[in-house]
Amino acid sequence: IRTIGILGGGQLGRMLSAAASRLGLRCHIYEPGANAPAADVAHACTTAPYEDETALRAFAASVDVITYEFENIPTSALDLLETLRPIRPGREALRVSQDRVTEKDFLTSLGLTTAPYAAVDDAASMQAAVAAIGTPAILKTRRFGYDGKGQARLNAPADAEAALADMRGAPAVLEGFVDFSCEISVIAARGTDGSVACFDPGQNLHEGGILRRTTVPAQVPASLRTDAILLASRILNALDYVGVLGVELFVTPQGLVVNEIAPRVHNSGHWTQNGCTVDQFEQHVRAVAGWPLGDGARHSDVVMENLIGDDMDRVPALARDPMTALHLYGKAESRPGRKMGHANIVQTRQG
Ligand code: ATP
Ligand code: MG
Ligand code: MG
Repeated sequence: IRTIGILGGGQLGRMLSAAASRLGLRCHIYEPGANAPAADVAHACTTAPYEDETALRAFAASVDVITYEFENIPTSALDLLETLRPIRPGREALRVSQDRVTEKDFLTSLGLTTAPYAAVDDAASMQAAVAAIGTPAILKTRRFGYDGKGQARLNAPADAEAALADMRGAPAVLEGFVDFSCEISVIAARGTDGSVACFDPGQNLHEGGILRRTTVPAQVPASLRTDAILLASRILNALDYVGVLGVELFVTPQGLVVNEIAPRVHNSGHWTQNGCTVDQFEQHVRAVAGWPLGDGARHSDVVMENLIGDDMDRVPALARDPMTALHLYGKAESRPGRKMGHANIVQTRQG
């Protein structure tokens, strides 16, 4: 494999392209929007909508394998592309993770624990869901949500009507609020030969639904870290997965609860760039290109801080710290809530 096609041209595509380049491979980005952060790093970039059949065919013809950095690719585009080139991770991983209800049904079928949930389409199903699950709870759109967008909190049953109105008619899911002690995530990878390698779980701090910081190692017992890795591996095998997968978990007194999975490289895995010999981006490239995987071992502890909006003001100071690696996405304008870059603050390894 010489050229990898990547659907989506955001910062994840940018960092995948940089990793592929280090391995002597080329990336061709397909992205509908202008000014894609990945475009200045990749070998080629097609700017066209996912409905443009001619552009999709030309893109597929120019690559050996197709992957994605964004899970909400329209089904019609995938239906065409999969007749032309292998798509890794495969369609089943996308189908499962594009819809929060389908995803929770899948996780439950594996015997894993999720928050209590119920599909919500209208006032009647909302009332039934609140009766079954109670409050506090969170109503989320089934599709397209990220960084906490498309979510409404219910502190009491009386909040149901307003929360439903927030969904603007989109199919939704009501989730019981999980009283977690902390959040962790596992970045896991599976190769074309079925081998699995996981990075050490990181501990995640979210603010306003958006990831602020990941700390590795997570401050949880070793047995829980092992549980998290085993659980992620089961998901990979069940999906016959090829590539990197992010699994977000809540730590509770009753054990691990799966929040959601992402069939791609993940923000909470950015620490691996400066904590591991083979980082999550190279790992994903290796997997989709059919190479052997890195083993995921961590050589350093890391605190990863996202640089969101005005956090870019911190860059001059961070740039002066010799133990901080900066990863900036080259986005021209900063907006509140927009991920502009991240800083990996490298610590001495504590075991
Ligand atoms: P992203 O895909 O960018 O990670 P998202 O928009 O899919 O985010 P979620 O992961 O569903 O959002 O939720 C964001 C954060 O909100 C979670 O990491 C957690 O802190 C909190 N949260 C979400 N669902 C629940 C829940 N059922 N109980 C408690 N907290 C929750
Ligand atoms: Mg999500
Ligand atoms: Mg999430």
